Amino acid sequence: MTPGDESVAESARAVHQGASAVRRVEAALAHLAETEPRLHAYLHVRADGALADAAELDRLGPEARAALPLAGVVVAVKDNLVLKDTPTTAGSKILEGYRPPYTATAVARLQAAGALVIGKTNLDEFAMGSSTEHSAYGPTKNPWDVTRVPGGSSGGSAAAVAAGTALVALGSDTGGSVRQPAAFCGVVGLKPTYGRVSRYGLLAFASSLDQVGPLGRRVADVAQVFQVMAGRDPHDATSVEGPPGGPVLDATGSLRGLRVGVVGSQRDQAGPEARTALDEAVVALSDQGAVVSEVDLPHSRYGIAAYYLVAPAEASSNLARYDGVRYGVRGEGQDLAEVYLHTRGEGFGTEVKRRILLGTFALAEGYYDAYYLKALKTRTLLAQDYRAAFRSVDVLLTPTVPETAFRLGEKLEDPWAMYQSDVMTVGANLTGLPALSLPWSVTAGGLPTAIQLTAPWLEEARLFSTAAALEASRAQPWTGPAGEGRGAS
Ligand code: GLN
Repeated sequence: MTPGDESVAESARAVHQGASAVRRVEAALAHLAETEPRLHAYLHVRADGALADAAELDRLGPEARAALPLAGVVVAVKDNLVLKDTPTTAGSKILEGYRPPYTATAVARLQAAGALVIGKTNLDEFAMGSSTEHSAYGPTKNPWDVTRVPGGSSGGSAAAVAAGTALVALGSDTGGSVRQPAAFCGVVGLKPTYGRVSRYGLLAFASSLDQVGPLGRRVADVAQVFQVMAGRDPHDATSVEGPPGGPVLDATGSLRGLRVGVVGSQRDQAGPEARTALDEAVVALSDQGAVVSEVDLPHSRYGIAAYYLVAPAEASSNLARYDGVRYGVRGEGQDLAEVYLHTRGEGFGTEVKRRILLGTFALAEGYYDAYYLKALKTRTLLAQDYRAAFRSVDVLLTPTVPETAFRLGEKLEDPWAMYQSDVMTVGANLTGLPALSLPWSVTAGGLPTAIQLTAPWLEEARLFSTAAALEASRAQPWTGPAGEGRGAS
């Protein structure tokens, strides 16, 4: 048995009833030893730490265990979220050897609920990328086809869940980094409303866009983990408390009267497989009583341009702290300027340098109005588009990505092509809206497709109930990738 075979609720219930948490971690580690040489989903495996945490859990009495909603649930954490005394690199050479003195709130809340962190997962350096190929420690492979990318930047987390080495994983989503890899790896991924999950302990990329989000094999798993980590945190001034009661999963599966808006322009941008998936989802929604119409987000065509100004601008400022003095690796130099030059010149990879240059340029005097300010205005117009759309519909439906997982190396030399992978995901980040990616079908070529649902602010519950109904209506019962010991048998 691997962690991915059971649901979060089943796993926790078993441990509540006395099943050994240590046994669960041992099984996960054994499975990981088998899959990791092929996939490279992890940058650090926390074998001893996870076993020690599990042993502590096993020593608790039945009442104390039962009070832990995620008792013994094996989770993986993206390596840009800090975990006290555990190596955290953000996929960058510049943080090699860094052991943070504190734990991110999202991770701490999962641990306090009984979850066991099995390891830190691979990512594009500082979460900048869409394929995990920009990791300084080598790419992760897609468990469905190891010649393909798992997506990014949370590619390690998505691959870990798809391969079943973790039941759920945490990622971060600044422009699509939870949802796009979730789509490429056939798992569920949620980007919560901006502020719904604390960013304390998430290494900042673009602070006005960053959100921590869960990935899992089922909608219910993602909803449960989200519920545990969401909420106000005094350490993050932008964090908010959601509606009381938390997310509700409508088990009846009926979508009668739900108004769904298909974003026409994004349907047109989709490749044939993504479009087929979308059209099938529309039929499934209509069959369950939802009222589907087409809506327009006129400014969404400027989304990528606005995102690739705002995100690099914020990144250029956020990454100024990696100076070789306070964290990680330090380059040699005669004076301070030379130390900075060598630390940053050698410590950062090409894509990170590209973003810092782009962002610095966009913020420079004389260019600020032409680029950064214009991007901010676009952001406002886009938010108005969504607000107008939500006057006539309850949720929006689009593909998550225009295509299925691409080949390793395919877009590495062409940043513009790589950036296009985010064309359907950046809208939710620029506007702060919650969005969820749901795996939908498997193509003739054996790769997963996905659809994306977007809801108004703080309406995660609506995403969960809609996605759960769609999940239950899928043509094939969902299986993981074949070849990882847990595909269709
Ligand atoms: N792929 C996007 C980028 O490269 C999004 C990254 C993210 O969400 N962290 O910026």
